Amino acid sequence: MAEDTIIAYRLIMSIAFEIKSQDGAARAGVLKTARGDIETPCVTLNYTKALEDWGFGPSDVTDAKDVILLRNAFWLKRRGAKDIREGIGWPGITMADSGGFQMVSLGQHLRQNFNGVGFNLDGKSTFISPHEVVEWGRGAGVDLIMPLDNTVYTMDKNWWKFIRSAIITAVWHQRSRGIADEKLYYIVQGGLNKLARLISLWDARRQLNNGISAVAIGGLAWDEPRPALYRMVEFCVKRLPEDKPRHMLGICKPVDVLECIRRGMDTFDGIAATREGRHGRVWVKGGKYFDIRKTEFENDERVLDETCKCPTCSSGISRARLRAGFKQRDREAIRQLMAHNWHHNYSLVKDARAAILVGHLDIYITEYLSIL
Ligand SMILES: [Zn+2]
Repeated sequence: MAEDTIIAYRLIMSIAFEIKSQDGAARAGVLKTARGDIETPCVTLNYTKALEDWGFGPSDVTDAKDVILLRNAFWLKRRGAKDIREGIGWPGITMADSGGFQMVSLGQHLRQNFNGVGFNLDGKSTFISPHEVVEWGRGAGVDLIMPLDNTVYTMDKNWWKFIRSAIITAVWHQRSRGIADEKLYYIVQGGLNKLARLISLWDARRQLNNGISAVAIGGLAWDEPRPALYRMVEFCVKRLPEDKPRHMLGICKPVDVLECIRRGMDTFDGIAATREGRHGRVWVKGGKYFDIRKTEFENDERVLDETCKCPTCSSGISRARLRAGFKQRDREAIRQLMAHNWHHNYSLVKDARAAILVGHLDIYITEYLSIL
């Protein structure tokens, strides 16, 4: 096939997923998009305003072509961006989320109905419809599009809110159809409420049998106990088709990522790695961390983590220099701390993939968690 024919074919192809190996419920796979393929499990780089402000870019990750960049459609659209790569020139695959998390943060100012969501922002009344979220994603060249979804704080005591969120998410998804179905996910909602999840999962299966190629689990990772979160992931995964890629919204802490990989999730996003790096919390093996601000690192000539191959540790820069840079809010030092944490997760999932391929995921997780 001629190269331009292949490119034209890829531009209209749907998201696809190939499972290379399974280890229990865990999968090592390949996520295929119009722009290219990516090995799973993998973590996205959530390109928030903070990363933009600190000048974080493709050179701060090991191989940007091998990383999914995630940006928030609502904020980009609001500032008039026409391309998801605007201001960063990302060479790899991109994903856009529509901001369910931000909606919960906006709290009581929200007005939600089947047509979309309205709220007051900076003194102005704003309204987002499910249709326009996908329209923007298609126009902005996004490869993987999360539709508008309705999420509820997991620890809310009102069970009806979870049922309502599953129903509204289903209606919004229906209203997101017909624009870029080949790139569109279904987001399963319902918090820790099993009835709400069953409603959402029923609708997810219906859409996944009817032209939608990928699914995400949302509405978790607030303040719920971790065992409850993991049980709900298991509950959902058991009711989803094997052959579709599964994205976990808002999960990126190492132990959570490993526990969700073990339960059959493929891709992950979250802001904790870079946010904590920006605040001086350095991630190390075992799901542990240390605080670079402590005086004990004042003369510490070691790199952050001797086993880490991130751009920061590879450059040989010492903890002492990073500590001094952090204290002066030096841009490069802050970027280097963010890059290290993000890379910690990047190599964590790469190693998890290698372990799945040889059927040793449980051993890998046990070893990772036992490192002191
Ligand atoms: Zn590092």
